[in-house]
Amino acid sequence: MMMFIVDAMLGKLAAWLRLTGNDTFYSTQLHDDELIRIAKEQSRILLTSDAILARRAEDAGLEFMLVRGSVDEEIASVFLKFGIKPDADPAKSRCTKCNGILTHIKNDEKQRIEGLVPEQTFNYYTEFWLCKYCKSVFFQGGQWTNIEEYMSRIAELMKKLET
Ligand SMILES: [Zn+2]
Repeated sequence: MMMFIVDAMLGKLAAWLRLTGNDTFYSTQLHDDELIRIAKEQSRILLTSDAILARRAEDAGLEFMLVRGSVDEEIASVFLKFGIKPDADPAKSRCTKCNGILTHIKNDEKQRIEGLVPEQTFNYYTEFWLCKYCKSVFFQGGQWTNIEEYMSRIAELMKKLET
């Protein structure tokens, strides 16, 4: 199981890594020194768009990738390099906000998330995923359709990058 640490400039990449089920450390509060230290201590692959930080990671003997291009290219190239499938399955996803593990909430235990989502959402959907740590709630609503669309776009781009 690969684990990542992502620099502050790559927030979208961090979210998509989490959605595709990858343990991803991300914070906008960390200095380069701390990124290097955490990568080393937790054996995380450092993803950065900063050439100087990439150089430091190399010197420290860390596994890293210098990520370049548009957001789509960043995501596609990282997925390609590390063999990540562009497939966001809520049963495997991590919380996009805090990297927490999600708990599946079935229809008959739905009261556990009452008050954490708007009433309409609560009434309409029958399946939810709850982050134990930050209490964010996810569900396969309209948003999830967009997630699938975006992942197929990334899949296309990965094919292009491969050739
Ligand atoms: Zn969370």
